Amino acid sequence: MTTHVVNPYDVAVAQFDEAAERLGLSQAMRAILRKPKRELTVNFPVRMDDGRVEMFTGYRVQHNINRGPAKGGIRFSPEVSLDEVRALAMWMTWKCAVVGIPFGGAKGGVLCDPHYMSPGELERLSRRYTTEISVLLGPNSDIPAPDMNTNPQVMAWMMDTYSMHQGYSVPAVITGKPLAIGGSEGRLEATARGVRVITREAIRMLDMLPESCSVVVQGFGNVGSITARLLHEMGCKVVGLSDISGGVYNPEGIDVPLALRYSKEHGQLYGLPGAQMITNQALLELPCDILVPAALENQLTGENAGRVKARLIIEAANGPTTLEADRILNQRGVTIVPDILANAGGVTVSYFEWVQDLQHLFWTEQEINQRLEEIMTRSFVAVREKAQEQATNLRMGAYLLAVARVAEATEIRGVYP
Ligand code: GLU
Repeated sequence: MTTHVVNPYDVAVAQFDEAAERLGLSQAMRAILRKPKRELTVNFPVRMDDGRVEMFTGYRVQHNINRGPAKGGIRFSPEVSLDEVRALAMWMTWKCAVVGIPFGGAKGGVLCDPHYMSPGELERLSRRYTTEISVLLGPNSDIPAPDMNTNPQVMAWMMDTYSMHQGYSVPAVITGKPLAIGGSEGRLEATARGVRVITREAIRMLDMLPESCSVVVQGFGNVGSITARLLHEMGCKVVGLSDISGGVYNPEGIDVPLALRYSKEHGQLYGLPGAQMITNQALLELPCDILVPAALENQLTGENAGRVKARLIIEAANGPTTLEADRILNQRGVTIVPDILANAGGVTVSYFEWVQDLQHLFWTEQEINQRLEEIMTRSFVAVREKAQEQATNLRMGAYLLAVARVAEATEIRGVYP
């Protein structure tokens, strides 16, 4: 139906409004929680390799910090907008509240295309952006992490830049760092591990078995590629995968370890032996039991939601489903595990990394994975029970839990002065 561009901030606010209405929040509380607390826009120059100076625009938005310091990733993408960053910051607030970790929500982004930048240019951009937003950053105030197109190396440059300004190392100001400088075991795989736990619980809830489930994963970045591997290892049949080059499909099952090797060698999935090439749009409509969007916002829309075949959708990406698609999929009886629960494994292990950095005491990979498993399982059960109790779906169940927790913290702290 509608093909106009959907503004992610409108989606985020509409989701919040519905939860606020059901919770009977006061008008004042609704007004407070609808708006981000702080929004910083920065325009800054970076010297490119050819000697030219180019201007870049970046943002850092803190939505709410009543439950703890602001937390959330930084994305580098030509699609970044202030409204997108606002939406992602608000989703971080709810995400941290759903899994019960003591952070508020934030997000950052820089308008750029790292695929067309040299490592030197990327480093200078990362360092200058960090300097520009450093008025907000700090281990007790605002702690960035990786997101789309950023990685442990970018986090290392950001941590080093902040530390240079302080005159000593401050590892706890950034999470998702390399192990050598205070990163955590298990952080790289954490989001996908969380997705695996959530998928296992959702499969159980629907009385299905992993071995009889076919899976399609959209996106082959950190989250999508590791999720595909973990679901394959869990016994699911992965029939479809995609990256920006397009989709690959094999109804008999894709050799996931081969796909991982192929993508590493060729920089894309396109051309994967033993699979049929399809478009990214067709991928979302493939026959399968489980669909895992692990790429961008607004992938499931009013236009394609009616043709989605999966009976279970696990939102590994942030905001992959528009409001209209959500309504259609719910009407059609498709179970959706919402982003703020499904992909919370990443920020949960970021929390572990921050705690380890602050106490200078590090845990084993086994300890990390076990604690992550406990939090994700417990959170899934809490969301499922809330949804059952309120006769609603899992998204609203997660929102009711999260928004109530943030509203309680906001209420108890009171309005200053
Ligand atoms: N960027 C990730 C997310 O969207 C992780 C954020 C973090 O670890 O702070 O949840």
